[in-house]
Amino acid sequence: MKRALITGITGQDGLYLSELLLAKGYQVHGVIRGQNNPKLDLVRAVVPEVILHTGDLLDSFSLARALEAAQPTEIYNLGAISFVAYSWDNAHLTSQVTGHGVLNILEAVRLYAAGDKSVRFYQASSSEMFGKVQEVPQRETTLLWPRSPYGVAKVFGHYMTINYRESYGLHASSGILFNHESPRRGPEFVTRKVSQAVARIKLGQQDTLPMGNLDASRDWGFAGDYVEAMWRMLQQEQADDYVIATGVTHTIRDLLEVAFGVVGISDWESYVTQDPRFMRPAEVELLIGDASKARERLGWTPTVDFEGLVTMMVESDLAALSRRR
Ligand code: GDP
Repeated sequence: MKRALITGITGQDGLYLSELLLAKGYQVHGVIRGQNNPKLDLVRAVVPEVILHTGDLLDSFSLARALEAAQPTEIYNLGAISFVAYSWDNAHLTSQVTGHGVLNILEAVRLYAAGDKSVRFYQASSSEMFGKVQEVPQRETTLLWPRSPYGVAKVFGHYMTINYRESYGLHASSGILFNHESPRRGPEFVTRKVSQAVARIKLGQQDTLPMGNLDASRDWGFAGDYVEAMWRMLQQEQADDYVIATGVTHTIRDLLEVAFGVVGISDWESYVTQDPRFMRPAEVELLIGDASKARERLGWTPTVDFEGLVTMMVESDLAALSRRR
């Protein structure tokens, strides 16, 4: 039986990846942080088969212990402080967890693997590393220019992953994933914030939706598709870096139009207000990825388009709210 260890098991991607690996017959282990973690019940409910180990990306010994206990051949580092806006208020902590945490787990994996080439590592890198984009669309070779403490921390993790591959021959791959969403996305991210608000407005539970910058563009895909790409990277003979994206970009305005459209509201502007609280000190204006390397080498393509994704999220929130009424 193949064994995998996932950090960030409580997050959106951790849950989808667990489901994928369990369906493939893996024994799945997860690292879970902290005392009385509020997300523990969610993991137990969604993927009860997952074996959990207490650990923290800031605590190297706990990572070593989790590796020793789980004996995995595939390690997926999805754990991070992942909300960009929050990273300005907590720049140091974000650098530690999202940046140095990668070094901690890479070093733990290197010592655990002890030269065993069957051990493989995946690092969750991010399109936020492209920041002030130096090329359109963005690909694996595009110069990185991060625009937030989160982006800077992800760049550190990305290069450290490459460095461990080149220095020690570790099978370490970095997936540069563009924004990926689902009904499991945290409500602080713009897609889920909008899908929840649209459902509440439709049901008469909310009147207005305060928003930040409506002109930013993102390449949004479905998280369920993106975890498949992570797995495929670790099945390759050679470790490498891959952009994972849909190749289609939309503005926040498009998101609002489609989301409100799902519930039959066409004059969405009358519900949306501008709120400076949601503006950022520096903005990533445009993200659009070129995933042709992943398509050619991994045979990976997304299956859910923008309209399908937004519809899925609004309908899921509508159903959840209706059940609660
Ligand atoms: P990010 O790409 O990882 O930062 O993902 P987010 O979903 O947090 O933000 C995507 C884009 O939506 C960014 O350009 C934000 O500035 C923009 N945006 C506009 N209004 C909001 C808002 O109210 N909340 C969030 N989270 N983002 C917003």
